[in-house]
Amino acid sequence: MVYRKLGKTGLEVSILGYGASPLGSVFRNVDEAVGVKTVHTAIDLGINFIDVSPYYGLTLAETVLGKALKELPRDAYCLATKVGRYGDAEFDFSAARVTKSVDESLARLNVDYIDVIQCHDIEFGSLDQVVNETLPALEKVREQGKVGFIGITGLPLEIFRYVIDRANVDTILSYCHYSLNDTALAEWVPYLQKEEVGIISASPLSMRLLTEQGPPDWHPAPEDIQQACAKAAAHCRKNGVDIAKLAVQFGLANTDIATTLVGTANPDNLRKNVDWALSEFDDTLLAEVLEILTPIHNKTWLSGIPENQ
Ligand code: NAD
Repeated sequence: MVYRKLGKTGLEVSILGYGASPLGSVFRNVDEAVGVKTVHTAIDLGINFIDVSPYYGLTLAETVLGKALKELPRDAYCLATKVGRYGDAEFDFSAARVTKSVDESLARLNVDYIDVIQCHDIEFGSLDQVVNETLPALEKVREQGKVGFIGITGLPLEIFRYVIDRANVDTILSYCHYSLNDTALAEWVPYLQKEEVGIISASPLSMRLLTEQGPPDWHPAPEDIQQACAKAAAHCRKNGVDIAKLAVQFGLANTDIATTLVGTANPDNLRKNVDWALSEFDDTLLAEVLEILTPIHNKTWLSGIPENQ
């Protein structure tokens, strides 16, 4: 495994991070024992950054992850979870709720310390509340020694600047903005580096758009993005390559991104992802796929309340 520094946190994180949302059966029903085995496989293969949230599977992902972590030494991994999102349409960034939320996560995860606590999908809340109430409450939790670093997550990239310009933020987690079809995050790198904010990128498979299996029914991408990604997958298939391989390699190749989170509850997929992460690119195929995706490059979808667009 290769490791990179996460901003000014001092954490050295694996370039491939483990996204634990599938442990909450968000893509398909997951057997708990297989989920636990996947986490242990990740650690065995050198992955040391794990991301989860109380929202994933409505606490199920944290609970399954907690069972896996119970059997691991605490210094084997950096653990990131979140506060503020508790359902598809359930958000609460109040000081009282996020403070209680950290304790609930600590209990479910079977740990007494969270490395990175993140405000989850802040575009659904008031950014001023995040700045004036949520982050100060998390600073107090940090002073109690329950968390190490504080971050923010979401889809629209502009929201990060609004908060970072007004508060102390250690990390951002951006998703679906550094993949074969969308590299918008790259434009924000100089600003984030100037502010010494660690960069976590998630969903290099664009939440399964860039897989053989294709996207789940609930995928928010509009039809033209879905069709272009399907065309790119077909082109890779014709060349005997799984598009997921190219997608994982592309995500991890950007050295400005500390860690890229891929979610899976399948130990075989996890092994494949690690092998791909450390193997050579097919430059010709990459150029062809990027060409296919050019018409929808950086096209995205809306997320959050209107005032945060
Ligand atoms: P992803 O793009 O990593 O895709 C995950 C899906 O791809 C899963 O269904 C998985 O089974 C499948 N997959 C994984 N490896 C594969 C392979 N080798 N071949 C074929 N299919 C494969 O998307 P994701 O899971 O949404 O994102 C990764 C993680 O990032 C999440 O688990 C979560 O921890 C984090 N995340 C956070 C936010 C946020 O904070 N707002 C948003 C999105 C993701």
